[in-house]
Amino acid sequence: MAERSKKILLFWDCPECGHSHVEGPTQRCPRCFWWRDRQVEFYEANDSRLLTPEEEAQYTRPDWICKVCGASNADTGQPVAELLCGSCNSWQTNSLDLGSDRPEDANVGAQVATVRGQWQEGFRVDEGATSPPPPPKKSGGLGKKIVAGAIALGIGGTGFGAWQLFSPDIIDAEITQRTWTVNVEIQEQRPVSGSGWNLPSGAYNVNRREKQRTTRKVQTGTTTENVKVSYQAQTGTKEQCRTTSDGNGVGTRTCRDVPVYTTKYRTETKTIPVYRNEPVYDTWYTYTEDKWGTQTTVSNNGVGDSPRTAPAFTLDNQPYPERSRPPQEICYITGQFEQDNQVSQEQWSLPCAQYDRLKLGETVTLERQGDKVKLADDTADK
Ligand SMILES: [Zn+2]
Ligand SMILES: [Zn+2]
Repeated sequence: MAERSKKILLFWDCPECGHSHVEGPTQRCPRCFWWRDRQVEFYEANDSRLLTPEEEAQYTRPDWICKVCGASNADTGQPVAELLCGSCNSWQTNSLDLGSDRPEDANVGAQVATVRGQWQEGFRVDEGATSPPPPPKKSGGLGKKIVAGAIALGIGGTGFGAWQLFSPDIIDAEITQRTWTVNVEIQEQRPVSGSGWNLPSGAYNVNRREKQRTTRKVQTGTTTENVKVSYQAQTGTKEQCRTTSDGNGVGTRTCRDVPVYTTKYRTETKTIPVYRNEPVYDTWYTYTEDKWGTQTTVSNNGVGDSPRTAPAFTLDNQPYPERSRPPQEICYITGQFEQDNQVSQEQWSLPCAQYDRLKLGETVTLERQGDKVKLADDTADK
């Protein structure tokens, strides 16, 4: 994109008295006669007209800055020995301290701000043109990002409620009774009907039939579908401009055309597959199998230290085959203890190894959990 440059008139505001919108090349405030210096800020306004060819020929050099008072003076091309400051009336080479060098030039090339709303009759240029972005702000220092490190506090363990629920009661109880039970489960092998996609070994009276187990997708062809597809198309250009100071109250406005894009749509044809659901068949079995299940449980009960013998039973295998499971010993104690200022009595089961070490009338410390207890100070039978 080719760039186009043109010279335009800038303006400045008097920092001394506040008088605004002074034409750029004007050296002094028309109200208070303050002489502009290096720091004065030029700006572009809506009435920043194009320079005439005569003005362009006149404002080719930046102002020079007085070595004594800092005022800006127009450079008319004189040699350094002839430069006299209009503000403080100092020659630029007339003193030993000032030396014989040329004074410095005013700043050139800094981007100037655009100030709107100061349009004046007859001075408007480039109406509708895009204004340059505002100059970068002279902020003090870079903003630093503060990364706040959050410290996650891990809370270990279970909640209070769960602790309460599972924590055992500690009670001191006097043992008032010791009883035991030995259970033997009698099982029988019964014919049970079952069904499924797999046939268990040992099944009999087997019946097979084909049954739909699932479905699968089968492609039968294709179809087409029209879809809208978006894309970016260049639909024109727009002018982008920026203005820099020439250091003498006029500016260089540089513009270029940048492309403008618009979202457009086109229709595309897409091929998509078409499926149908097809049933998948498999063999479904119904059968009979013999399974062991509980027929009854026989028990033998006793008290104290009497031998914990299994109950007597016979297997008659009628009408089905029978078998017995290994005997299971369960030991119980009844304890008397004080709770809420009342004497209570409860029966609990406890490990038979602990049962064997207890005596009637003995007071022991127990951990109670539901209807089970164990000796609180016991470490051997955990
Ligand atoms: Zn002024
Ligand atoms: Zn001066």
